[in-house]
Amino acid sequence: MAPELVLVLGDQLDRRSPALDAAACDEAVVLMIESAGEAAHAWSHKQRIALFLSAMRHHAEALRGDGWTVDYQPLQAGHDSLADGVCDAIARHRPQRVRMVEAGEWRVQQMIDRACAEAGAELQVHDDSHFFCSREEFARWAGGRKQLVMEYFYRDMRKRFDVLMENGRPAGDAWNFDRANRGSFGRHGPGEVPTPLRFEPDAITRGVLDEVEKRFPGHPGSLEGFGWPVTPAEAEAALKDFVTRRLPSYGRYQDAMWQGQPWLYHAGISAALNLKLLDPRRAVDAAVTAWDAGDAPLEAVEGFVRQLLGWREFIRGVYWLEMPAYARHNHFGHDRPLPSFFWNGDTELNCLRQCFGDTLANGYAHHIQRLMVIGNFALLAGLRPQAVCDWFLGIYVDAVEWVELPNTLGMALHADGGVVGTKPYVASGAYIKRMSNYCDGCRFDSGKRSGADACPFNLLYWNFLAQHRETLTANPRMRLALKNLERLDDARLEEIRAGAAGFLAKL
Ligand code: SF4
Repeated sequence: MAPELVLVLGDQLDRRSPALDAAACDEAVVLMIESAGEAAHAWSHKQRIALFLSAMRHHAEALRGDGWTVDYQPLQAGHDSLADGVCDAIARHRPQRVRMVEAGEWRVQQMIDRACAEAGAELQVHDDSHFFCSREEFARWAGGRKQLVMEYFYRDMRKRFDVLMENGRPAGDAWNFDRANRGSFGRHGPGEVPTPLRFEPDAITRGVLDEVEKRFPGHPGSLEGFGWPVTPAEAEAALKDFVTRRLPSYGRYQDAMWQGQPWLYHAGISAALNLKLLDPRRAVDAAVTAWDAGDAPLEAVEGFVRQLLGWREFIRGVYWLEMPAYARHNHFGHDRPLPSFFWNGDTELNCLRQCFGDTLANGYAHHIQRLMVIGNFALLAGLRPQAVCDWFLGIYVDAVEWVELPNTLGMALHADGGVVGTKPYVASGAYIKRMSNYCDGCRFDSGKRSGADACPFNLLYWNFLAQHRETLTANPRMRLALKNLERLDDARLEEIRAGAAGFLAKL
């Protein structure tokens, strides 16, 4: 009888996790389970499945190297769900206790709680020390506040962890350089952008890629060019590559998009962070060190720190505060099914075609492609939030529910009615035109609101404002947009409505 079973989930690949710290290396058994059910629960991109499996298998090897006994249940073991695998392991090992770090997904934690209870095993769940802020600390911060504003949380985190602070004041005498983070590339484009470091698949990864191709042939996306970091050493190398080669321009161009340039100046380390191959403290330190050394400007470093110390922690706090009811929100009552081009990229709208193309090729698109093109379209077209969330969860390699759900349902779709974002992030074709060159290669005209070549984003934008005018009036941040809506006379508005209805009918 093993005294303890330490359950390590696919997004908990931290060799210094609190569950491992609390267990005795020479007595406990580490349990890792590959479950086909998890790949199908969110209809996952092939690269997402491959990344999880490869990183898990590397992690198991590393733990064995550290002296742990690892009971690794591969796909061939046939566990349809994690619960099956846990029950089976409890029956085989008959442990005194099961330990784990809290799951990143409410559903998974429920499933494991139930499995252990049914199998009669004690379950000890440890706080996830990967994050700067624990769930309890966030709940305390949120308690009694009418609205949760990320900016205030972020300032508290900066002070608490003494990041980019000088004599009690924010470095540069400003908390936020958001305005300096909205540059576009102009007519000539970004020019030569240093491409992110990609990692040649080793024998373990090559085995996984073959297996994913055979077992999950109908899943979306392509495995070609798979180069994600799958070990802590590779994650560290990816971080270093970003900090030295792209961070200096990251701040200025973080909202910009360009056809054929999926990576631009972005870090590309979100998957490594979310699988816990990389500690966010390490990433924050590396960026701040670059600023200290004069190698990166403050607006770039602050923008990066805001994403990690502010947004990422805030989103996780909101997820655990609001689940499980949060997943069911549908503020605007939208119920249109996903168009097929979400799965194949086959659409005449060039901005969407490019963003879906990047997504299907790499399992990745940067945050403005996700938020202001795909998410914006999903909101304006009235797509059912839960279908959109399922798509985002399965299609991006870095998606784990705690981060994906509030970002999609809250930030992109405003389906939570404003828990996460203070307004719906909707924009017409003019925004996409300003921030990218997508419109140059499009059959539609971003400047038109009527006629056969009117940009669908324009039709849908004004149609959305008109349709939800009453609800939106309550939001002071929508005042300007609604004022512009008032300028449209009835005939023009009717024309837009008819154009939008015609477009939506063909989806
Ligand atoms: Fe997208 Fe409209 Fe520009 Fe075409 S014209 S790329 S649909 S924003």
